[in-house]
Amino acid sequence: MARTALRGRLTWQAATVASVTNETASVVTIRLDPPHWPGHRAGQHLDVRLTAEDGYTAEREYSIASAPGEPVAITVERLEDGEVSPYLTGELRAGDELELRGPVGGYFVWEPGDGGPLLLVAGGSGIVPLRSILRHRLRTGSDVPACLLYSSRNWEGVIYREELSQSPGGVQVSYTLTRSQPAGWTGHTGRIDSALLAEVAWPAESNPLAYICGPTSFVETAAAALVSLGYPPERVRTERFGGTGGH
Ligand SMILES: Cc1cc2nc3c(=O)[nH]c(=O)nc-3n(C[C@H](O)[C@H](O)[C@H](O)COP(=O)(O)OP(=O)(O)OC[C@H]3O[C@@H](n4cnc5c(N)ncnc54)[C@H](O)[C@@H]3O)c2cc1C
Repeated sequence: MARTALRGRLTWQAATVASVTNETASVVTIRLDPPHWPGHRAGQHLDVRLTAEDGYTAEREYSIASAPGEPVAITVERLEDGEVSPYLTGELRAGDELELRGPVGGYFVWEPGDGGPLLLVAGGSGIVPLRSILRHRLRTGSDVPACLLYSSRNWEGVIYREELSQSPGGVQVSYTLTRSQPAGWTGHTGRIDSALLAEVAWPAESNPLAYICGPTSFVETAAAALVSLGYPPERVRTERFGGTGGH
């Protein structure tokens, strides 16, 4: 039984694209309908494979944006000079097929039994697996306290803005806008550092559980800052999306 489930996760399958929804000017959410899906955990990702007419293939990983039990969805940010993301954000349409494999990953996941208090730290599209965690927390009725610190270049770039503005499940949401701020902005500005984390994050004495996701350098900076504030390294889980960042 377990072997069958594993084989299922490691096998490529063609999933139909159920919908493509704009999140921001450069970000879309793609809902997928894979014929075989064993279910996923909050925080996991899946692999996407594109094959060109000449047989050339490109594979990329994408976090699962939806909660366990919800239809599978990914949220993709277009990188202008990228190979795969411009296709996913610009060309793909409902009814198309996309090859995928998954779910993948067993470390950057959260279950209500893992406890908290939860500190979620996102840089740009790093919000995607954290949104799955927040939805899972909401859907399971977990009373684990949660706060989210989300770093974005500007307000227009904030993904899931509507949803986050509802503070789902009572999560405390703080933003920092690193490049530009709308008129009258009263939130934080500038990159995440230990001073900002000391202000918004749970104190280390409350034994928090932290999840940090975003571009590699963002994740490393934020993780080092949390450890400098006394968070035990084993309570700081990280997921690196690659790239040098800018969030
Ligand atoms: C576990 C995991 C989960 C991921 N989840 C998501 C997700 O939910 N949503 C999402 O949009 N992306 C996610 N990514 C990143 C994704 O896999 C691709 O790397 C990204 O879409 C760029 O692919 P590309 O082919 O368009 O660019 P490429 O052709 O691979 O790269 C183009 C240029 O962009 C740089 N670059 C690559 N990745 C990034 C990045 N993340 N930030 C900044 N610059 C970068 C490269 O160094 C290169 O210079 C995830 C990555 C990992 C490892």
